[in-house]
Amino acid sequence: AKHSGRNQYRRFTAPLRDSAQKRLDLLKDLQSALETGQFALQYQPIVDMQSGRVHKTEALVRWHHPERGLISPGEFIPLAEDTGLIVALGDHVFHQAARQLAAWRDTLGTTIDISVNVSPVQFKSDGLRPQAWMDTLRELGLPGSAITLEITERLLMEIDDQTRIRRQAFQEAGLKMALDDFGTGYSSVSYLKSFDIDYIKIDQSFIRHLAPDSEDLALCQAIITMAHHLGMQVIAEGIESQAQHELLRAVGCDYGQGYWYSRPVDPDRCAELLKTMQSGG
Ligand code: C2E
Ligand code: CA
Ligand code: CA
Ligand code: CA
Repeated sequence: AKHSGRNQYRRFTAPLRDSAQKRLDLLKDLQSALETGQFALQYQPIVDMQSGRVHKTEALVRWHHPERGLISPGEFIPLAEDTGLIVALGDHVFHQAARQLAAWRDTLGTTIDISVNVSPVQFKSDGLRPQAWMDTLRELGLPGSAITLEITERLLMEIDDQTRIRRQAFQEAGLKMALDDFGTGYSSVSYLKSFDIDYIKIDQSFIRHLAPDSEDLALCQAIITMAHHLGMQVIAEGIESQAQHELLRAVGCDYGQGYWYSRPVDPDRCAELLKTMQSGG
């Protein structure tokens, strides 16, 4: 009985211990990863549903770990948030994406825009300096309106004075604001109005089972109608089939993003996409 008890104990604690250890290891590596340039960006097109043209691309960060290979942001963004490293990482992502955008605009002669994810922890931190971001845009010759910041409902629920001041600085510089993962949190329409959101991104969980006459389609339709009445545009995330694309286009969805158009790709591949899928607009 004693023996089996101990095995029992081991069976329950070993996975816990392993994941805690893995977390610790990653934490340690995360700190040096920024300095040694292990983070790279991929880009995924956001497509105008009516014209089929690329409207903008979303920058998605990737960690190329020297031993573990590719680590997904779902794994390391929470760690970066816990340690505060998200601020430096977020700065890196912003500057990298802005430089890439300026390069594309120069070489491809497009008016393509870019979307950058900003974590709530980052947005609320004093380390986030809108002025430094504006300086970068000015140096690169980019208008603020070329940049969309993607935030989540979590931020809207935790708005404080600093957040408001920062939001206003971005707004005065012309940056746009997208509400990511819409429908998974608890945002109310009043939040949407008070934070002056430009785009709502319908979460992929509402797109996955989309079918004619489905509840999800009715939901999407309601979100689109509400957004349009409030002067916002709608991006549907996670579109993986032509059927989903057609259904959403038919109910007036403005933009689509998902594997059906393209997976997130490296900058070179994205430049080719921008050339073939006529960009701009
Ligand atoms: P997100 O902002 O909602 O990004 C969309 C995620 O869905 C991406 O995962 C993308 O690769 C994936 N996706 C796109 N199309 C499809 C599709 O058709 N089907 C499916 N199943 N998935 C699709 P990824 O790149 O792994 O990023 C995960 C999350 O990590 C992002 O979700 C975002 O919250 C966060 N993230 C990524 N890059 C950054 C960043 O630079 N900063 C911050 N703060 N967060 C980031
Ligand atoms: Ca996003
Ligand atoms: Ca999303
Ligand atoms: Ca607006």
